[in-house]
Amino acid sequence: MADLQIDTISISGLTSCHLRRSTRAKRIRIELRPDHSLLIVVPATAREDQWLAFVLSKRRWIERNLQRSARHRPGLVPGFPDDIELLYTGQKYQLCRFQGSRASTKVTEDRLKLVCVESSDKHAYQVLRRWLVGQAREEFSARLEQISGATGLKWNGLSIRGQKTRWGSCSAKGNISLNFKMLFLPANLVDHVLLHELVHTRELNHSRRFWALMQQYDQQCSLHRTELRKAGQLLPEWLANV
Ligand SMILES: [Zn+2]
Repeated sequence: MADLQIDTISISGLTSCHLRRSTRAKRIRIELRPDHSLLIVVPATAREDQWLAFVLSKRRWIERNLQRSARHRPGLVPGFPDDIELLYTGQKYQLCRFQGSRASTKVTEDRLKLVCVESSDKHAYQVLRRWLVGQAREEFSARLEQISGATGLKWNGLSIRGQKTRWGSCSAKGNISLNFKMLFLPANLVDHVLLHELVHTRELNHSRRFWALMQQYDQQCSLHRTELRKAGQLLPEWLANV
């Protein structure tokens, strides 16, 4: 018997839902398929309210697994994350979305509360982005101070952005701009980018003098450069929505 497409189940990230009645199945089971569709296999005699209740009781499991596999499947739009891990600080946060009259964020221990004015994912991503930008500003400016202190390289201003293709840049006036997505990179790679931009305050090019200075301050300069080229893979898939 052909699988029956079900339209009554709505779980974020799920592409479609199919029901299969099986004479061999003894109990209800579900299967997540690589195309992010859900197959529900039920005994021939199972009633709709039974398998529906079963699927809904597995909702969290389905969402978690969809997110996990989305991270490894570029091209698919993943659902809003349940939790985030900032590799840079090593902190993990469970995300909790609430509805409120004013957008705000609050951290209590390992929970990040997102108060959203609208229920859409798009809006929740904006609220999350604002928080990430604030975190990046705090973390990266403190770290710039430290590296500046150690190297004597001075910068002028700092702006935090969400560039698609670059981690950072530095203007002729010594204004550094850094990508908040680096919060999802390990600290040694972020240090390398911060140093790179600080060195630009002295050498505004990628000349031999520039790389000699880089090498002087970062003994593993070429290793970090290589790792940084592949670092985009470390970013969680959902960041593309932010
Ligand atoms: Zn550069």
